[in-house]
Amino acid sequence: MTPEITSIDCTAFSYHIDDVGTDGNGFNLVYQPGNEHERKMFALRINTDVGVTGEYVDIGGFGENGPVEAQVRMMADYLVGKNPLARERHWSEIQRGFRKYDRMGLGPIDIALWDFAGKYHDAPIHELLGTYRTRLPTYASTYMGDQNGGLDSPAAYADFAEECLEMGYPAFKAHGWGGGDDQRDIDREVATVLELGERVGDEMDLMLDPACEYETFADALEVGKACDEADFFWYEDPYRDGGISQHGHRTLRERVDTPLLQGEHLRGLPLQTDMMATESTDLVRADPEYDGGITGAIKIARVAEGFGLDAEVHSAGPAHRHCVAAIRNTNYYEMAVVHPDCRGSRNLPVYAGDYNDDLDAVDSDGTVPVPDGPGLGVEYDWPFIDRNRLDYWEVS
Ligand SMILES: [Mg+2]
Repeated sequence: MTPEITSIDCTAFSYHIDDVGTDGNGFNLVYQPGNEHERKMFALRINTDVGVTGEYVDIGGFGENGPVEAQVRMMADYLVGKNPLARERHWSEIQRGFRKYDRMGLGPIDIALWDFAGKYHDAPIHELLGTYRTRLPTYASTYMGDQNGGLDSPAAYADFAEECLEMGYPAFKAHGWGGGDDQRDIDREVATVLELGERVGDEMDLMLDPACEYETFADALEVGKACDEADFFWYEDPYRDGGISQHGHRTLRERVDTPLLQGEHLRGLPLQTDMMATESTDLVRADPEYDGGITGAIKIARVAEGFGLDAEVHSAGPAHRHCVAAIRNTNYYEMAVVHPDCRGSRNLPVYAGDYNDDLDAVDSDGTVPVPDGPGLGVEYDWPFIDRNRLDYWEVS
């Protein structure tokens, strides 16, 4: 019997994180002692006539995910009555249906369909994809810099890197400062790169992700040369083109030796492929939430494999772990985002079991496991989600 989707429901909810706030422009989350930040998320369920439910709880937003949830709602009527196992068909139809939007709503739907498939076949998703590894080498990926006594200086970043090295992390990625004219300082970015190289460069792979904060190509070039000097492992999304210009990054690649990692802000497999084909990036970004689900992220990784390039999975979460487990041509799982004084901020209370993506989740060998239960392999705490409900809709 072919299974059928009977209904889709979505719960918007929120909870509070201590000691987190935003910097100047209000776009970046940073350490802010004493502040309480309200984090909004949503939880999606795809219900079927075989008594198996595909689940997804968003972890990527770290903020308002309303537009993504709205896109999911747009596709609910299409999905009801369909075969939940026909992922490639739905991926293709929804891509087309979202052609006027950024297609971010495809990710949650596809991840929930993969969770269904895993539970239906009684296998973890990484097995359905084809397991390559079950322990994932992990890098500590920091919060953005603050001016509140946390990651507030080059030395503070280097101190934290040493602490992460001590915990077993083989690699460390700094997000620099941003958020407004009074907070951006290219000299401080350069100093952070050089200090990290000096303190831990012999023992850790180091990465820098300015998250497109640098205002000019010249700034990107200056910091890129510092990355060369400190022998960085990669340099990611440096400047204000928004991380998407093929010409800009091809030009930057000609002048900087450190491998570039672009693609986090490209939406869609053809654009990612064009970035590779035009030699505009060294490493390729793939994210199961941003790039059309596990289906989309794995397509990007397989295209990169064909180009002889590595695909680095962006951010942390159960779907992300299954992807890293099933990609040969990848280096690290991203423990995002961590901070020396802000522990537990990524230890999401949505899991009923002991699944955890925070600083202390890594083993002393610098790895995390891939979940081994059916589907995503995590159990969601629905009583918690329902207690903290802001909104709810159901389509049947
Ligand atoms: Mg990034």
